[in-house]
Amino acid sequence: MSDRATRVLVLNSGSSSVKYQLLDMRDSSRLASGLVEHIGEPDGAADHDAALKTVADELKRDGLGLDSEELAAIGHRVVHGGLTFTEPTLIDDTVLAEIESLVPLAPLHNPANLTGIRTARSLRPDLPQVAVFDTAFHTTMPESAARYAIDVETADAHRIRRYGFHGTSHAYVSRKSAELLGREPSEVNIIVLHLGNGASASAVAGGRCVDTSMGLTPLEGLVMGTRSGDIDPAVVFHLGRVAGMSLDEVDELLNKKSGLTGLCGANDMREILRRRDEGDGAARLAFEIYIHRLKKYIGAYIAVLGRVDALVFTAGVGENAAPVREAAVAGLEGLGLAVDAERNAVRSGLPRVISPDGARVTVAVVPTDEELEIAQQTYRLIDEDRKNSKNSKNSKTGTTGATGAA
Ligand code: ADP
Repeated sequence: MSDRATRVLVLNSGSSSVKYQLLDMRDSSRLASGLVEHIGEPDGAADHDAALKTVADELKRDGLGLDSEELAAIGHRVVHGGLTFTEPTLIDDTVLAEIESLVPLAPLHNPANLTGIRTARSLRPDLPQVAVFDTAFHTTMPESAARYAIDVETADAHRIRRYGFHGTSHAYVSRKSAELLGREPSEVNIIVLHLGNGASASAVAGGRCVDTSMGLTPLEGLVMGTRSGDIDPAVVFHLGRVAGMSLDEVDELLNKKSGLTGLCGANDMREILRRRDEGDGAARLAFEIYIHRLKKYIGAYIAVLGRVDALVFTAGVGENAAPVREAAVAGLEGLGLAVDAERNAVRSGLPRVISPDGARVTVAVVPTDEELEIAQQTYRLIDEDRKNSKNSKNSKTGTTGATGAA
């Protein structure tokens, strides 16, 4: 890799799609981005291998080919890092084997992430590739928040605990929120509400995550587009015993046919708001259940943090749906939370405060940017590595370590 290489390719290989962005880290500008969808379907790429080759072709067509000297590294989003990966990690065969060993914890996601990494390595074997984990930001959670109250031996034998997801977004948004407050991340306590199709809340104390709403899998917590979020686990036994459903059927019910979709047949908040405004009772109830759950998490995380400096909305719903923000905070004046109607109505792609002046807790909207965060974490790691290897060449004593695998 050339010393002047400043570009990072970010790859997000999902179960049926590959998203990519090419960024120049000198100014964080986006040089290219795209999406290859419907992998494995008749109208899409045959497999992940073919999808990544399409990405390579698209980049080449734009004159930004993978063979470019200016490409410094590839950053891969990896969903599950378990307890092994607490930081961005330079990928080698050992790291790949570790990610593979976590497949039972993320059977849908990690295999796709792995295929993406393997194909990218075969296309550019000489290039540093970095794994950035969705779970990493949450590994700072204390045991009191991370453990389920079940038999400890059983839990440990099967690595059952709360890992949390969307960590890259929670890390980015909480840091940006501190910036918006004009404070250091270490000085502030922040609640982040990442409300997309998947949704999660996190409590961040002094820059470290102390609790988050997703658990062993992304099913726990808030009401989502198609996921139930929190539910009495006995519902699963009941469906098995009384409704005769198989585990796979219950899995599908709770992950794909529940949440907003299960409640009113739609998972897009725009449609739900429109239907609610037209007097559709199912849409209204779905909205109310969604908001009720949000409020419970806001209250819980105020209690977990003790003192809160900011409540921050992000992702598709959080950034765009003013009625959701208004309803989530309504009635919480006693907790120092309020939204200024005019500020809340402003549409913007920039971080912004929506609480009134002088409010005890700042309520804000901070757009997330997971690709930029992955690119920054990737570049920081390989830049350190470059400096280390330069120093070790000069002094012949240094080490180049920095794999970050703990
Ligand atoms: P994903 O979890 O798929 O990354 P996003 O963060 O992109 O999701 O959020 C997608 C969701 O954002 C959509 O399902 C939609 O409900 C919501 N959304 C996007 N724009 C608006 C809007 N203007 N008003 C309300 N909801 C919106």
